[in-house]
Amino acid sequence: MASIEVAVIGAGLSGLALALSLHKQSIPCTIYEARSASLDIGGAIMLSPNALRILDGLGIYRKIKAHGFEFQDLHFYTDKPLELFEFGNKEKYQYDALRIYRHELINVLVSALQEKGISIQYGKKFTRVLTESESEVTWAFEDGQTGRAACLVGADGIHSRVRRYLYPDLEPQFTNAVGVTAVVPTSQLTGTEAYKMPLTIMNPSYGAFVIAQQLADGSEVLIGKQKRATEIGRDGWNQLLHNKAWCVDFLRQGSESFPEIVGSAVSKISPDEINLWPFYVVPRLDTWASKHSRVVILGDAAHAIPPTAGQGVNQAFEDVYTFSTILAKCNQANLEQGLEIWQKGRQARIDQVLKLNAQIDARRMPQDHGSSAGLDTEPFDLAWLYSPDFDEMVESWLVDLV
Ligand SMILES: Cc1cc2nc3c(=O)[nH]c(=O)nc-3n(C[C@H](O)[C@H](O)[C@H](O)COP(=O)(O)OP(=O)(O)OC[C@H]3O[C@@H](n4cnc5c(N)ncnc54)[C@H](O)[C@@H]3O)c2cc1C
Repeated sequence: MASIEVAVIGAGLSGLALALSLHKQSIPCTIYEARSASLDIGGAIMLSPNALRILDGLGIYRKIKAHGFEFQDLHFYTDKPLELFEFGNKEKYQYDALRIYRHELINVLVSALQEKGISIQYGKKFTRVLTESESEVTWAFEDGQTGRAACLVGADGIHSRVRRYLYPDLEPQFTNAVGVTAVVPTSQLTGTEAYKMPLTIMNPSYGAFVIAQQLADGSEVLIGKQKRATEIGRDGWNQLLHNKAWCVDFLRQGSESFPEIVGSAVSKISPDEINLWPFYVVPRLDTWASKHSRVVILGDAAHAIPPTAGQGVNQAFEDVYTFSTILAKCNQANLEQGLEIWQKGRQARIDQVLKLNAQIDARRMPQDHGSSAGLDTEPFDLAWLYSPDFDEMVESWLVDLV
């Protein structure tokens, strides 16, 4: 559908990658972002081979690789080594995992869009859809201006405004868990001999403590803890994020019950790079597209998922690439069917990730007062997640397209 003009709401990782992916399919687009710059939250993120393959195809991988820390496995411990979870493996999946600052990835994506002359309009907050017909959609911005395109894509995150057009009353659901993270120099850690990093140490009373290298040379580590919490609302979480003393206390609570490596990690914490992440999800949605298929949502707007298998951003990249490929193959007459096929295929992958999350949770739930005895530690078979050829995948979905 080469003549379609797409408006992308949101210049986060989904929106920026989507614009690049649409350009690859010769589909013109413009991005509209509410803020003065792309949302840069949470410090560094972990990219797995499925996403890296997509970014490679978009010409981005080569440019980000040098900025990130490459690794293969996440190591899990209780009072002893429990298991490892593969996050990448060059031999098996073509790519090692990459832990990279979100802003580095944003910068590379924005430069690539600039090189291709794709417009990102900042300070343009989408408010609502005005009209939708079989051939176009119009909408309003907060500044009073309006827009018009053949297709409007909501890549506007977990609290999506575009989604309200499809689901006016839907609110993301809190999962009763919260994580706090900070960044410290790797040289601060002591008692490291018994551990392989990146790691998670689980304590039945104080939750899970994470230590993960970042920067290309691994010279700094993210430290983080997650545990159960009760809902206090978006404003409440925002207040806690700015209450650095509370965040530091959260990280330090119970550290004496963890091994020395954790005590050393929390011994000095700068307030500058503290993050708080309350885990919300978007429940399974019946449709990601509007009645006339002119409004579509993807990324966190469509399916924000828990962080267990580290697939939030990675699944968003899968959405973006497969959506652009399908859009390029559809015409006015079969767009509705094409989008149905896309969502069905993508939801099946999201469901598989949710199933994996549940399997991981079941294994890591403290049993028998934290003992790991008798727990299943067989490595997960992750080829289905990390190895797909997305062009072949889309082709297989489209055999039914009329
Ligand atoms: C603290 C924190 C840490 C995280 N760490 C990880 C991690 O390590 N790994 C991982 O996989 N996931 C992580 N996540 C989840 C991850 O951030 C999301 O899965 C990912 O950012 C989704 O990308 P997105 O582009 O769909 O949405 P977002 O990143 O939320 O981007 C949405 C964009 O839309 C813009 N926008 C919103 N509303 C409007 C509007 N009305 N008009 C115009 N623009 C609008 C926003 O300003 C933003 O730029 C983390 C989340 C948080 C909060």
